[in-house]
Amino acid sequence: MSAEIIDGKSIAKEVRSTLKTRAENLIKKGVRPGLAVIIVGDDPASSIYVNNKVKACKEASIHSETHRFPENVEQADVLRCIHELNENPHIHGILVQLPLPRHFESGKVITSIAIEKDVDSFHLYNVGALVTGSAVFLPCTPYGVMIMLEKHGIPIEGQHAVIVGRSNIVGKPMSLMLLEKGATVTICTSKTRDLASYTKSADILVVAVGKPRLITADMVKTGAAVIDVGINRLADGALAGDVDFESVKEKAGYITPVPGGVGPMTITMLLCNTIEAAERTQAGI
Ligand code: NDP
Repeated sequence: MSAEIIDGKSIAKEVRSTLKTRAENLIKKGVRPGLAVIIVGDDPASSIYVNNKVKACKEASIHSETHRFPENVEQADVLRCIHELNENPHIHGILVQLPLPRHFESGKVITSIAIEKDVDSFHLYNVGALVTGSAVFLPCTPYGVMIMLEKHGIPIEGQHAVIVGRSNIVGKPMSLMLLEKGATVTICTSKTRDLASYTKSADILVVAVGKPRLITADMVKTGAAVIDVGINRLADGALAGDVDFESVKEKAGYITPVPGGVGPMTITMLLCNTIEAAERTQAGI
């Protein structure tokens, strides 16, 4: 039997329409949610991501502004910009598009963002808050995955969740969020011996590696929920996930496609965090 497809595009559309309503309610109360994006250098992929974020903000009635700096800018100039945005009452979310040029100390830049405006949730304080189960903001990509699981009524408590990948932006926070909801969590990395022996026992399998079609049907348990975070550009220009969609969809219970799966959810959750930040300001929290 073929798996139920978790359609990220349509879930994102549904969530974004509720976000637009929340933004409009705030505007009626005199607070327009605002997101500031800082981008350093002219990496084409980063520019595309930033343009997509700006477009999504506009559609959700969120004010956005982009602060662009040349590749050779001094770190101090970027820090000054962040300090000004921290003080700016019209800005509720600040994000720095990563990666930064090599002469930057990314950690220092990220921790200069005010905790209550750190909508990417990369600040060390916010990472710690997530670890202790008291998150200020949930990191956008794993947050999107949690919403997808919820929308499809996929149980988490007591389930075995296997996360492949341990990056700070996907694998680790994903593991913590599933752990928080009562899953038994296993994290696999490039050093894991016999990856399939773990993935085969997963009720929920989240793959965030960056290797096209790493996960094949023989590595998946029948009926599992398979969430493919990977985005890989193939030689012919097509996009592929980390999961071999065609074979795995015949075995899994649920599966996300690439494109059109987790991708559209990430920006959606960024908008969500920005609105959440603005609502907190409006409520004086
Ligand atoms: P990273 O490169 O930071 O991390 C990759 C992880 O995969 C590492 O932990 C690495 O292990 C592990 N890994 C590598 N090879 C293997 C292997 N053969 N078996 C098991 N684990 C392995 O990547 P990101 O987390 O930033 O991104 C992962 C993928 O997700 C990429 O394709 C990226 O484009 C995509 N992505 C998609 C997003 C979306 O919105 N859909 C958002 C963010 C990322 P080790 O630590 O041992 O090196």
